[in-house]
Amino acid sequence: MPGEFEFLNWVRSQQRRDVIVQLPAGDDLAILRWPADDLLLVGIDQVLDGVHFDSTIHTPHAIGAKVMNRNLSDCAAMACLPVVAVITFALPRSVSPEYAKNLYAGIRDAGMAIASEDVSACAIVGGDTGVWNGPLAITCAILGRAAGITPIQRNGARPGDGVFVTGAIGGSILGRHMTFSPRVALARQLAASCTISAMIDLSDGLSRDLGHICDESSVGAVIDAAQIPIHPDARALCNDRALGGDRSPLEHALHDGEDYELLFTSPDCRDARAIRIGTIAAQREVLLRLDGADKPMRPAGFEHQLSSEKPAP
Ligand SMILES: [Mg+2]
Repeated sequence: MPGEFEFLNWVRSQQRRDVIVQLPAGDDLAILRWPADDLLLVGIDQVLDGVHFDSTIHTPHAIGAKVMNRNLSDCAAMACLPVVAVITFALPRSVSPEYAKNLYAGIRDAGMAIASEDVSACAIVGGDTGVWNGPLAITCAILGRAAGITPIQRNGARPGDGVFVTGAIGGSILGRHMTFSPRVALARQLAASCTISAMIDLSDGLSRDLGHICDESSVGAVIDAAQIPIHPDARALCNDRALGGDRSPLEHALHDGEDYELLFTSPDCRDARAIRIGTIAAQREVLLRLDGADKPMRPAGFEHQLSSEKPAP
């Protein structure tokens, strides 16, 4: 990439110090002053051109935002407070410094967008840039804190717990898979106000992600199809033969991925922002109650395929 040093100098100019970030990117390592007695939660996520985004369609700012937001959504899934992130870019030789800056800005802006009364912005404190002949690939690692809330795992669901989602699902391929807002603040508010026994963010689709909770918790569940909030995008997909007209809106809501809403179980949640869709059961099978009959709900495995955005002519 011509102007690589200009890009790196610009990145350096974006760095900020704060209570935790004692030394941001610019030296060999960043230095953090981690709060004493708090847990450190660590995750990493990789996004690839043609798999998680399509650089011929999506802007660099939107691609950058998705990279950060996927990590932030994993923080939400454990009710963890995101603190800082480090990023690597594998940049195609053809990209301009302007393109790289927009990628970075997308990541930075997504980290800032979560800031609210309860949640501080997630800063970028380091990373690495390489230029190569391959496609665009970005990796983001995130460091978070428990900050007063015990991290919520996938293995705590118990028979009788309600099963909840935090928003309408299905059809994210129409655009929401790039533009979603990670539910960091909501996760922490829910965790502070009720007992959440297990939680996950909906990245692989309801059927698959509920399977993860049930497997980890050694339980099953009964899901009421009539209670599942189906996103208008799931209905729109059904009217589009090329993209998804072979499946019903309910099937899209059950099996499409990348909604990034929260899926959780709780014995006592009364929060109006959480929609109850079923109940955890002792018998280790996930059932879908539809028109009065219970049938096994198996992960259909409609893995996210960007190619479906560009159907063959
Ligand atoms: Mg996740």
